[in-house]
Amino acid sequence: MNREAARAAIRDFLIALGHDPERNPELVETPARVVEAFADELLAGYGRDLPALVTKDSSPAPPNPGLIALRDVAVATVCPHHLMPALGRANVIYRPGDRILGIGVVARFVDDCARRLVLQETIGQDVVATLVKHAGARGALCEITLRHGCLSARGAHQVDARVTTVARAGEITESEVLIALGRTSTSVATVEKP
Ligand SMILES: [Zn+2]
Repeated sequence: MNREAARAAIRDFLIALGHDPERNPELVETPARVVEAFADELLAGYGRDLPALVTKDSSPAPPNPGLIALRDVAVATVCPHHLMPALGRANVIYRPGDRILGIGVVARFVDDCARRLVLQETIGQDVVATLVKHAGARGALCEITLRHGCLSARGAHQVDARVTTVARAGEITESEVLIALGRTSTSVATVEKP
């Protein structure tokens, strides 16, 4: 990564749009701030080693571990078409194989998969692939719901619209997903008191 070239490019971009950082004191540090935000945060998922992260923090699964769901994981990504942020939440469900992952690790690699120049649907596919291929999960699902800057601040100006994508692989059924996400009650009979 060439930060100096990136800073120069942002400065040139501003000048080309008619905003000279030399004349507007608010813009003097903007090229440095923008490059720092993209390099160190918005695109920080590059260079992180997902397989190593997954294998480092896991423990043997008990017999018949059932499903594990991690809900409302924060997601911050950058749309590759407009370079604008998209923010929201992910729900991750998996059926462990031989190993169970640390909960923090799941949240961490969702973050790693998101902080790249990727489409929202790709983030979910990468999360599911990481769980199945590297963590040995027998099934996995990742549902992501985001508000996109490029859908609200520009374009269709849909400030309240949210985009949901679902990626799924392996042994995991529709009804298990609904229960794991708390969206339906099981049909347990209730007995009224006399
Ligand atoms: Zn976009």
